[in-house]
Amino acid sequence: MRAALNLAPVMNLQSTRIVLVNTTHPGNIGGVARAMKNMGLGELYLVAPHRYPDEQAVWRAAGAGDILERAVVVESLDQALANCQFVVGTSARGRRIPWPTLDPRRCAKQIAAAAQRGARVAVVFGREDRGLTNDELQACNLHLHIPSHPDYTSLNLAMAVQIVSYELRMLALADELPDNPQQEWDAELCSAENLERFYEHLEQTLVEIGFLDPAAPRQLMTRLRRLYGRVQLDEMELKILRGILTETKNTIEKSSY
Ligand code: SAH
Repeated sequence: MRAALNLAPVMNLQSTRIVLVNTTHPGNIGGVARAMKNMGLGELYLVAPHRYPDEQAVWRAAGAGDILERAVVVESLDQALANCQFVVGTSARGRRIPWPTLDPRRCAKQIAAAAQRGARVAVVFGREDRGLTNDELQACNLHLHIPSHPDYTSLNLAMAVQIVSYELRMLALADELPDNPQQEWDAELCSAENLERFYEHLEQTLVEIGFLDPAAPRQLMTRLRRLYGRVQLDEMELKILRGILTETKNTIEKSSY
């Protein structure tokens, strides 16, 4: 199974093409460029956009102006897809004729598998008001639906592109991501030995303050162990907790003089 995910070298996100059909609002084109650049995608095709170029697109693209500059404007969807070998059409709603349809995560796997076979891939997004026509959707190998809430299925165009690009990126990174991601940390995880000392210290303190009755301890220490065990304390955090216990003890002693 691991081997099937080992797609990083073949999955060239830069050349996975995003195609926008008849976009009305130039701001959305800018938002798409930004979403693409954030996720490492580079190829944008615009099929007969209503207003483009436009300063609203530049404004919304922020640091992704280069994607806009390289964007290719064409007259028809056919032109945008001419040299593509695997085409995914996105849709916010079910259509009359059912089509193989996947959610973004599963679809990203199909895209990666196609890319692995050397296919040039395009993902097509529709008009803000009407989406893609049935004819346009039928030009696609596969449909993608983001499983949004049935009360309101349609996402903003740039947000839909963001979700799809994110899933592609996660897949492209799969080989670099450890199974159990470990963040860089500023302190070592605490040793079992030090943790045991902390539990002893905690137990003593709880007895001293009258929270734990040694004659009827019930499950208190077990539950506290489970709680601290879940968070994987580091040595620094352990020191802080022990410092609190020491101060608690000092305070009790002072007040009992
Ligand atoms: N009212 C249109 C919605 C268009 S939203 C309709 O009913 O089709 C603009 C574009 O964003 C869609 O064409 C599609 O490309 C994308 N999009 C929005 N919501 C989506 C969803 N839930 N799943 C997949 N794509 C979606």
